[in-house]
Amino acid sequence: MSFDFFCVADNPTDYHDCFMRELIQKNPAEKEFHQAVSEMAKSVLPFIFEHPKYLEAKILERITEPDRVVSFRVTWEDDNGDVRVNRGYRVQFNNSIGPYKGGLRFHPSVNQSILKFLGFEQIFKNSLTTLPIGGGKGGSDFDPKGKSDREIMRFCQAFMTELSHHIGEDIDVPAGDIGVGAREISYMFGQYKKLSNRFTGVLTGKGIEFGGSLIRTEATGYGLIYFTDLILKHHGESLENKRCILSGSGNVAQYAVEKLIEKGAKVISMSDSKGMISIKNGVTREILAEVKKLKDNRGNLSELKMDGVNYHADKTPWGMDADYAFPCATQNEVQEEDAKELIKNGIKGVFEGANMPCTNEAVDLINEHKLYFGPAKAANAGGVAISGIEMTQNHMGLSWKRERVDEKLQEIMKEIHDKCVKYGERDGRVCYQTGANIGGFIKVADAMLAYGIN
Ligand code: NDP
Repeated sequence: MSFDFFCVADNPTDYHDCFMRELIQKNPAEKEFHQAVSEMAKSVLPFIFEHPKYLEAKILERITEPDRVVSFRVTWEDDNGDVRVNRGYRVQFNNSIGPYKGGLRFHPSVNQSILKFLGFEQIFKNSLTTLPIGGGKGGSDFDPKGKSDREIMRFCQAFMTELSHHIGEDIDVPAGDIGVGAREISYMFGQYKKLSNRFTGVLTGKGIEFGGSLIRTEATGYGLIYFTDLILKHHGESLENKRCILSGSGNVAQYAVEKLIEKGAKVISMSDSKGMISIKNGVTREILAEVKKLKDNRGNLSELKMDGVNYHADKTPWGMDADYAFPCATQNEVQEEDAKELIKNGIKGVFEGANMPCTNEAVDLINEHKLYFGPAKAANAGGVAISGIEMTQNHMGLSWKRERVDEKLQEIMKEIHDKCVKYGERDGRVCYQTGANIGGFIKVADAMLAYGIN
């Protein structure tokens, strides 16, 4: 069987169906990757048909094939002296507009499909930031939960020993994601420095003492709320006094909650992989500080005992009454049934902090009901934007002040918003999903055209 792409169709819908059939045949059992590509292809194909140069150069077919996928063995020793083996990956998806850039995820669910979906999304997200960064993603099926600090250190060092062959400050610059925070980045950066005998900005999310940027930790959560605020303002609305339901309690969730509180919104839920907490009067700074402390020590929300906080095992927040929803935990956490429930309860907007937290069916319902929708590629791009700014500071050998970085973050989120409006406005309504997809696609596609056939 040949896997050469060769779709001939005279309209975007038929082209999408033919293209997806071939993509699925070529990448079987990669359902998250299929989902991400189908979502993107559906919204850019009408634009591609209006601009046949992209169709003739087979840009969609080329952009959905990673430049390379590296998979490697990670062997390490646990505290009992037992030898453990995990699988590591780096998906270098597309470097047309800059070095590959994207996080590393350590979670038992990690596989090639998940990393390809994340790497694919990253291409367009990075392009939207206006910075010169390409798309990539990596990680391992290693589970950091229940591991000692020493075990984490040994794993990170073993992981970097192999990854170091494939990255570099002008080649590929990884960062954190689920299960990879400041501690893991520090262990990996230390190992890279030792192996290469070079002090170079090969990772972002570093400690402030050794080349990290202020605001990087906060950037994804803050950026999400800056972006939400821009969407709401564009429609004459605001976050003030609005009831918000939010999932997750990790990096993105914590700083989104912090900014929502600052904007006068009332956050009535947070969650983790075991359940959720509801907070009738809204998360306070004190509650948030306790959640942070708990999660830094890898605890569960069930351990949080505070007045006004109720724990619900195995529950998600999507059945609660609220104005706006912020899924900030993981992919596909808002399914079609959840979207129906949200709509039934009168939700007015959904803003994605996590990557692809809403299934395509859920997004279709959100659009059908004309809710405000902040798609992940645009809404959570603040983290990688400040990673890009960390790279700039490293190249210049400078550290910018907190206020300057925050100002830059707000400026970038505004540019992303305006790009979504520019490419997503149809019949007086802005479809931020279409705007983000087309806005992210153009720059990369034009660079690929400029390089000729390669
Ligand atoms: P963290 O590891 O800091 O937090 C993840 C949170 O999600 C935790 O509360 C975790 O619960 C929960 N979670 C993880 N898996 C599941 C699951 N299968 N079901 C329910 N809850 C789950 O990760 P981040 O906050 O960094 O990342 C969250 C999302 O945001 C991811 O989709 C990531 O790709 C995306 N993102 C992150 C960026 C960043 O800068 N960090 C940038 C852009 C996007 P528990 O504590 O129980 O594990």
